[in-house]
Amino acid sequence: MTFMPPNTPPVVLAIAGFDPSAGAGVLADIKTMSAFGCYGIGVVTSLTIQNTQRFFGASHQSGGMIKNQLEPLFADFAIAAVKTGMLPTAEVVEEVVAALSSNFVPHIVIDPVIRSTSGYDLIDEDALAALVERLFPFASVVTPNWEESERITGIAVRDAASAEQAARAILALGPRAVLVKGGDVDGETATDVLVDAADAVSYRAPKMQSRNTHGTGCAMASVLACLLARGSTLRESIPIAKEYIRRAIQSAPGLGSGNGPLNHFPPEWKL
Ligand code: PLP
Repeated sequence: MTFMPPNTPPVVLAIAGFDPSAGAGVLADIKTMSAFGCYGIGVVTSLTIQNTQRFFGASHQSGGMIKNQLEPLFADFAIAAVKTGMLPTAEVVEEVVAALSSNFVPHIVIDPVIRSTSGYDLIDEDALAALVERLFPFASVVTPNWEESERITGIAVRDAASAEQAARAILALGPRAVLVKGGDVDGETATDVLVDAADAVSYRAPKMQSRNTHGTGCAMASVLACLLARGSTLRESIPIAKEYIRRAIQSAPGLGSGNGPLNHFPPEWKL
């Protein structure tokens, strides 16, 4: 057995796109994981071309490239949690399913990334079908925002009640829990709804007015993966994740002239 010093951090694997501006995707995931005392490792599913202003395009990786990246990592690390983001094609999804079928991972957080804030489709229709049918059943939690919940279920999400209805419809697709994020009920309050086999819980917070929100979904899913890896329950983890995101937006560095990145290391942030 490998010697593990007592301060060895949990290893958390991000399987996501590469955003060169480091606001979203694998780079943002790794920063978030570092802020939560985890050792982040990453598999790149697509090389995107973007800055804070625009999304220019993407070069998706083949299924073979995903397999080639995943296998050496699973052979070498005890992976405590996996977080998935942009999975652009069905063949990429299938390789993730294959890896998770042959390697037990205790916690799996699936952020069903569908479209960039700037309106660019990050995954194709077949990938969405594969994600829902093949990957959701592995999830400890799936974290769609309101728009993604609508795309997945066809349910028009307009308020907390319809968010819960959509969350229940997604729960029926096989994950152990669903967190529908970011509902804006009255222009001032953002409501997230968690549904699992036990019941439904709402998390309300004042809506933040900021242009620096690029990658909030990525950060949220990475925080949950880290906290689950560190032994917290989902119900304990969600309020911590929301407070971290709030501070990360509040202290954003204001870089670029579009949707800027968060501050992944907010001042005085302590676990
Ligand atoms: N992943 C990648 C690689 C992206 O480029 C984007 C958006 O551009 C996202 C994920 C989604 O980002 P968000 O966390 O803002 O939903």
